[in-house]
Amino acid sequence: MQSKFKHNANEQMYLLPLSVEEFVPENHLSRLIHEIVEKFDTSNIESNYSYLGQKSYHPKCLLQLWIYGYATGTYSGRKLATKCESDTAYMYLANMHKPDFRTLNDFRKDNIETFNKYFIDIVKVCNELGMVNFGVIAIDGTKIRANAATHRSKDKEGYTKWLDRINKQIEELHKKAEQINAEEDKLYGNKRGDEIPKALQKKERLKSKIEKVLAKIKDKEKINLTDEDAKIIKSHGRHQTNYNAQGSVSSNGILLTSYVCTSPSDKEQLIPHLETLEKNHALKPENILADSGYSSYDNYEWLDKNNITAYMPDQQFENSDNNAQKPYHPCNFKYDEKNDCYTCPQGDILKFHHHYQDQRHKQQTKVYQTTACKTCVVHSLCTSATYRTIHRELREHLRQQSRNRLTTPEGKQLYQQRQYTIEPIWGNLKFNRKFNMFSLRGRKKVNGEFNLLSIAENILKVFNHKLKLQEI
Ligand code: SF4
Repeated sequence: MQSKFKHNANEQMYLLPLSVEEFVPENHLSRLIHEIVEKFDTSNIESNYSYLGQKSYHPKCLLQLWIYGYATGTYSGRKLATKCESDTAYMYLANMHKPDFRTLNDFRKDNIETFNKYFIDIVKVCNELGMVNFGVIAIDGTKIRANAATHRSKDKEGYTKWLDRINKQIEELHKKAEQINAEEDKLYGNKRGDEIPKALQKKERLKSKIEKVLAKIKDKEKINLTDEDAKIIKSHGRHQTNYNAQGSVSSNGILLTSYVCTSPSDKEQLIPHLETLEKNHALKPENILADSGYSSYDNYEWLDKNNITAYMPDQQFENSDNNAQKPYHPCNFKYDEKNDCYTCPQGDILKFHHHYQDQRHKQQTKVYQTTACKTCVVHSLCTSATYRTIHRELREHLRQQSRNRLTTPEGKQLYQQRQYTIEPIWGNLKFNRKFNMFSLRGRKKVNGEFNLLSIAENILKVFNHKLKLQEI
């Protein structure tokens, strides 16, 4: 009898064997990843493999599996291994091999430092495709959770107390073990009696870890026991064990630098970004966009010396509307560049008085004051000191130039570009691809993992770019 349905028998044989090429559609992301990774030079990794023993999976095969995983939200070796058995895109990339999770994890761990090279390579690919506009570079950072519980970050005192508790618990466990042994001896006779209970082994391991950390921890320092490099960094109002992930992008959203640091502040990261751009891509941008977290007098000075124009507000500039409401805020003292003096809200002139070296912030300031304060009717509103002083950093003019640029229509428009270039990358990573915590531990490994994420991010950009070209 004629059937209404297509055949539904899995055991049906094909006349010709299937090719993995048929596993994924023509315009599939996995094909692009395969094509790009095939061009990568993996000879460094290949040279680490031996001719002896069983044949290994090709590094390109494992690398493309990881990149596809990071591009599509699979960050664990176990999940990747499972997908190699059931997901046709992974089966295509694995060429029907089934690497187990240990092989995949070992590959990621052992070659973690090489991923930066492939990140540089993918930027070159984007550049060759005409996708990189180097004129305006946006710099930004985002905090990503370390794979370490925050409560395991402690200072010297915290670890000493913890160690005391562990020692007491070990003592109790020893007593308990002796008691059990004595009871078992009575019951069963010749028991070996030297088996250390698992709980005791665990405590001993923990004790030795704590002792190691205690041997090197400095006063006032906090170290996390699980990931000693991770730091407690505030993010969205919460203090958590985080890494500070840093990136810079071209005006068309291609990631150009990618690394993690453990500094809670972004200030020290501006120059490393620009030096890395020069080192990796022989690139010196004309303009940079960065938020107020990157602003410092040192950075304004460095940018000026290197002829790079910054669109970078400082914290006070961002609060300028609020500050202007306070009548005696320094912003309401008008500076006269020609005569190098300030005019206070009462119309009195504050002249240069002396130089001041701010050791803490490593700043040199000029201090201005007026004798008129003594008889001023609003004295108590303006200052609690005898004379009101205004400090002006020697590089204040550079900060002012940046502020002036940001108030022009072009400056405002350029600065807004950050919202369309770098900020969506963090959003895509955290919300769409659900990357909220690093899988690996230790700065070197976490850095490599972030490079993997960045390679995947740029390949996704190439993928979308190619799709758009096909639509035209
Ligand atoms: S206290 Fe001094 S600086 Fe302040 S408004 Fe009066 S005169 Fe001016």
